[in-house]
Amino acid sequence: MRIATITNWAYGATVCLTLASGIIMILASNADNAERQAVAQRQQFDQITEDIEADAWMLSDLARLFVIKKDPAILNEYRQKEGTLKNIEVHLQKLDDTGATDEELSLLSEGLKIVDALQDEQQAALASVARGEEQQAVDLLYGSAYELELERAQREIDRFRQILDKRVITDVQVATKTSKTLRTASEVMVGLTALLFLFVLGFILKRRVLRPVVRLSDVVHRLASQDYAVETPNFNQIDEIGDMAQAIHIFRENGLARQRLEKERDADWAIRELLARMTQRLQGCESFDDVLNVATLFAPNIAPGLSGRLYILDRAPARMRCVAEWLDPHGASTPFDPEDCWAIRRGQSHPPVNGEPDVVCYHLPESVAHQALCIPLIAQGEAIGLLSIQNILPENAPSRAYLELMAEALGLALANQRLRHELQEKALYDPLTGLRNRHHLDDMLRAQISLAQRTSTPLSCLMIDIDHFKKINDKYGHEAGDAVIKRVASIIQRTTGDEGKAFRYGGEEFLVLLAGMDDEAAYERASQIYSEVKMSTVRSGISEIATVDVSIGIATFPQHVQSDSLIRAADVALYRAKELGRARIVSFGMLGEG
Ligand code: GH3
Ligand code: MG
Ligand code: MG
Repeated sequence: MRIATITNWAYGATVCLTLASGIIMILASNADNAERQAVAQRQQFDQITEDIEADAWMLSDLARLFVIKKDPAILNEYRQKEGTLKNIEVHLQKLDDTGATDEELSLLSEGLKIVDALQDEQQAALASVARGEEQQAVDLLYGSAYELELERAQREIDRFRQILDKRVITDVQVATKTSKTLRTASEVMVGLTALLFLFVLGFILKRRVLRPVVRLSDVVHRLASQDYAVETPNFNQIDEIGDMAQAIHIFRENGLARQRLEKERDADWAIRELLARMTQRLQGCESFDDVLNVATLFAPNIAPGLSGRLYILDRAPARMRCVAEWLDPHGASTPFDPEDCWAIRRGQSHPPVNGEPDVVCYHLPESVAHQALCIPLIAQGEAIGLLSIQNILPENAPSRAYLELMAEALGLALANQRLRHELQEKALYDPLTGLRNRHHLDDMLRAQISLAQRTSTPLSCLMIDIDHFKKINDKYGHEAGDAVIKRVASIIQRTTGDEGKAFRYGGEEFLVLLAGMDDEAAYERASQIYSEVKMSTVRSGISEIATVDVSIGIATFPQHVQSDSLIRAADVALYRAKELGRARIVSFGMLGEG
């Protein structure tokens, strides 16, 4: 019940009780008046009765005195009093007016009739005195009959007084009792009003106002200091306090929501910041390894708690190759067929955002497939790799947009590295043969010579030129010439293996650096190349190209020359081989021998 309702009810009850006690007070006051009136009436009755009694007795005494003394003064006085007693009717009327009952009045008039009869006898005695018959008058007034009548009158008047007294006393008692009862009732009413007032005041102030207000004040204080962990009191009562509690509850809910939003916003900013930093770092990457380092460092921070793998699509054969992983993802990191990934098939993140039942990627272990997200790395419209994230649960799911941004940045960085690699390949490797070109040679030669100097090991150089190549071109065509160049290059590459570095030095000229090989070992290797080329057959359409020969010049550091003239010396030896009729091997060391 609302406090206002309680106070209204209490106010109404207090007003009713106050009115009732007022009315009872008035009634009590009336009863007091009745008591006072009864007392006054009794006094009046007493006074009137005493007057009548005194007058009657006075007349009788005067008459008796006169018949004995015969004093005219006494007679005179008697006559005067006689007039007074004649006013007896007036007395009766007075009594009647004062409130005596008819029964009481009839009693009194009985007495007065006797007094009247006595007065007649007094008149008779006075008349006897006037006639000189004093003895007769004395007998009459002092006789026993007169005495008896006098006593009877006295008794009648006493009775009247007794009855009157009795009635008046009863009236006074009733009036007193009524007055007392009403006064008590009035006091009880006032007491009840006071109690009700105190109860309502106490109840409202203490139970319904004071205690809840103290609680709410404490809560408001804590909420003001942004302590939203405080529990708002659950005052379900429908009153102002309940309204306040409800408002504070809503205030707390809003505060919590705001705090949550601020947290989300901060986390959002932190992730954006990480993404921006990752993108910057990716732009500074100079190799695939740089990109993978950045990915493994930033991915667990951008998507905390989520493990994942980064795959690159190898072209021939088409396989998804895992190049990086973080936070220990489930399943093996073995390569898989790109068709096993729905994200690669569709060219979009999989599963889609709506979270409805969907097919899962086959490359994922069944246990985690439903909590995984695959995002293809797209560059220039084609998938070049895959970002596969695991352990995505409702409570730790990051914004998919951020994961897609991460994938986009990684895809771009990997594509850049691929482009860079391809450009490097183009710049340093000969596209026809796959051998290093002359751009590579300077750096490589410097490195090999410094290694040889450092380790005091020999370094040999083979200069290889295809003999009469122009004729092959002329006879079989340029394409056939290319095929011959490719074949010779592949023989050189295979023969030199990992120990040697082979270069396409010019059109049909090749150069090989053989680290750690002296002239002898180099010669042996050159012979191997020579004979393999000689034995190989190259086809041009249906016809077979005639035997291809090569001339090879050899020079060795430090056996033959200083470091800076190694290539020139090998070139000189080759020139000598051509001079001597081609299809042979000449070592720079043999030149002096003539
Ligand atoms: P020699 O025995 O003296 O070395 O004679 P040669 O004909 O091999 O030497 P020459 O320098 O006279 O001719 C080389 C020819 O190789 C000239 C050029 O047209 C040809 N050539 C250079 N590069 C290529 C190429 O990439 N492909 C083809 N098919 N021919 C090339
Ligand atoms: Mg040639
Ligand atoms: Mg040549």
